Amino acid sequence: MIKEISIIGAGLSGSEAALQLAEKGWKVKLYEMRPGKMTPAHQTDKCAELVCSNSLKSLRTDTAAGLLKEELKLLGCKLLDIAMEYAVPAGHALAVDREAFAEKVTSIIENNPGIELIRKEVTAIPEGIVILAGGPLTSDALMQDLINKLGEQHLYFFDAIAPIVSADSLDRSVIFDKSRYDKGDADYLNCPFNKEEYYEFVEALQQGEKHTAHEFENEFFHDLSFRFYENCMPIEELARRGVDTLRFGVLRPVGLEDPRTDRRAFAVMQLRAENVDRTAFNLVGCQTMLKYGVQKEIFRKIPGMQNAEFLRYGSIHRNSYLNSPYVLNENLSLKAMPNVWLAGQFSGVEGYTESIAMGLLVAMIIDSSVSLLPETTILGQFWRRLITPSEQRFQPVNANFGLMPELIGIDKNKKKTEYANRALEDLHNWKK
Ligand SMILES: Cc1cc2nc3c(=O)[nH]c(=O)nc-3n(C[C@H](O)[C@H](O)[C@H](O)COP(=O)(O)OP(=O)(O)OC[C@H]3O[C@@H](n4cnc5c(N)ncnc54)[C@H](O)[C@@H]3O)c2cc1C
Repeated sequence: MIKEISIIGAGLSGSEAALQLAEKGWKVKLYEMRPGKMTPAHQTDKCAELVCSNSLKSLRTDTAAGLLKEELKLLGCKLLDIAMEYAVPAGHALAVDREAFAEKVTSIIENNPGIELIRKEVTAIPEGIVILAGGPLTSDALMQDLINKLGEQHLYFFDAIAPIVSADSLDRSVIFDKSRYDKGDADYLNCPFNKEEYYEFVEALQQGEKHTAHEFENEFFHDLSFRFYENCMPIEELARRGVDTLRFGVLRPVGLEDPRTDRRAFAVMQLRAENVDRTAFNLVGCQTMLKYGVQKEIFRKIPGMQNAEFLRYGSIHRNSYLNSPYVLNENLSLKAMPNVWLAGQFSGVEGYTESIAMGLLVAMIIDSSVSLLPETTILGQFWRRLITPSEQRFQPVNANFGLMPELIGIDKNKKKTEYANRALEDLHNWKK
């Protein structure tokens, strides 16, 4: 019997799930609404477009993001392989050439005989087996259909994204190349602030005019309180917390001594390459809600960026996801519609790699009804978080060692490595 499935959304999770299931002999209908209908963040019609940063975070196994990648490799993740193929230098992080990456994923999907890529907005959940992978910007019509079918157990919040500037508009007599503590090649550009420049910048951020909530109001949602993650906090909000917050946070200068003078600046803004050719750089940690004109004025106060050309401004976007612990079965299908699964950010994870991971996991569950993954793994913890109700309001989960069951009697300095060793060994055994 031919196994058929509809996947809504050819983003990171939908593309991964489609490739996995096609390989297992499924006939996949992969629906993607772009370019006919764009989201507020996507800029192309490509599958698996990275909408903001080009970084999939650390590759080091003693970090949770790195461990997640090792787990994904062990389980045969497709998109991670492609990301590795299109990696650009970024120290120990996996950053990719976003255009080349998305182009490659799209061409593999288009040429896969098991996948039919249908360029169409899905406005109601189709019959049959379905994966909803519409992401944080799932279209309003589909959200409305879900509201009708599931009730109002949805949550939402807004994300902010960082600006990108062109490399040739930067003043390289001020800016220097260096990675923090010289780990990796000198992959980052660094803009050194002296004390006066730093406080002037902070004051400008504190006073900068921002977009107001109503400009982003969604007709279906009336609670306009902004709910940010700590790691997605707009830079101007951080600046408002205190004049020194930034220099002890995203602008901390430690490990970034200027190689020309060996001196440490008062604060340092890091810029990370956007592509292999290093023609464009994003402002690390500068996700923002400031108005475009204000961004230009304020970010040009950063030393070396006085003539910066902005290729993209920061902005804010809606993030939709379901209250998974209350609406999902143990196998991650919807209680109200057991033939329908969620994947990606929409299912309640947060981040590129996490979204890819959920595409892979859900595909494995649908194809092979796999048993719950070990609780010592990041993936096993994602799965548990999505099906375990708690007293607190459900918030999306990302890879972090705080999820892990404690390791008793292990030296603090070795803990992270031991978490990783234990997870990979358990996953290995589970796979067998
Ligand atoms: C503005 C923004 C910036 C982000 N920045 C980062 C970041 O820097 N780093 C990070 O790790 N994570 C970031 N995220 C979070 C998250 O990792 C990404 O959104 C990631 O792409 C989510 O993957 P996904 O597969 O869930 O959704 P997506 O990759 O967004 O894919 C969903 C796809 O579904 C399509 N679609 C939606 N509705 C329909 C419909 N009704 N019919 C057909 N197709 C539909 C969309 O067009 C899209 O292609 C960001 C999110 C947002 C919104």
